[in-house]
Amino acid sequence: MSNLDARPAPTTCGGERDTGPVRDLLTARRVPLGESTVVRRLLPNLGRRMVGAWCFVDHYGPDDIADEPGMQVPPHPHMGLQTVSWLHAGEVLHRDSLGSLRTIRPRELGLMTSGRAISHSEESPRPHARYLHGAQLWVALPDAHRHRDPAFEHHPDLPTVTAPGLSATVILGTLDGATSPGTTHTPLVGADLTLTAGTAHRLPLDPDFEYAVLTMSGTLTADGVPLDPGAMLYLGTGRRDLPLHATTDATFLLLGGEPFAEKLVMWWNFIARSGEEIVQARSEWMEGSRFGEVHGYGGPRLAAPELPPGSLKPRGRVR
Ligand code: MN
Repeated sequence: MSNLDARPAPTTCGGERDTGPVRDLLTARRVPLGESTVVRRLLPNLGRRMVGAWCFVDHYGPDDIADEPGMQVPPHPHMGLQTVSWLHAGEVLHRDSLGSLRTIRPRELGLMTSGRAISHSEESPRPHARYLHGAQLWVALPDAHRHRDPAFEHHPDLPTVTAPGLSATVILGTLDGATSPGTTHTPLVGADLTLTAGTAHRLPLDPDFEYAVLTMSGTLTADGVPLDPGAMLYLGTGRRDLPLHATTDATFLLLGGEPFAEKLVMWWNFIARSGEEIVQARSEWMEGSRFGEVHGYGGPRLAAPELPPGSLKPRGRVR
């Protein structure tokens, strides 16, 4: 998915130390995405920009798109990151400048590694399911891997972990001994958990990772904090486990990773280490070089927004 803000603010992040265990409830910002969709942006957030290498989290739906086009995100570029398309309902048709053409369905991993440059489009296919519900996640690439060749992976069969009243799908990284086939470049985890009403469980965590949970549906408590659908709770580092209790049947995402040490500049759909790299990427997208071409999308590609006044400088991962 693209950041479709008409005037995206530059975000600088990375380079912070451990917080220890905390319980910071993050408030979503509503961002229009195309004509018919509104997404709830949880990262970057006023008080928190990253969780491990996870640097962008949009939650959308469930939306009834029976009589709507649904998701229509025209071709746009990325650099310096991986995108994770994650669905609970509906489907997304992915096209990219490598020639990939794949339909991503619920609990299948669509993982695009931009490396130095890629472009892609995402759309609800026609016909499409009535409901669309999912999350769009970005993972920042470390300096050693951000200039690599672009790649696209589709993993329809991900490993699962079960316990009484709990089932987890491992999106990226390792959870409780089960490892996703998705390629990662920093120590991190992403998992999709389903709890049946009344389940109490202590989820084992890595104390060197920082974590956040994002409720997709239902209500639960995490470390005693009640969470409604769409709520994101930042948990910090230094935890060996996370007490969970499902108030109703509930689903949520667990995102975690080693605190990202490198300083970043994020603007629009680009992650860089300096403002100059962002300016260069923007002008290369606008002149049609470097990011390749997406074939088959029924409309024009996205124009880059205007750059903000002033320079873009890398800073810390919390405000
Ligand atoms: Mn995108």
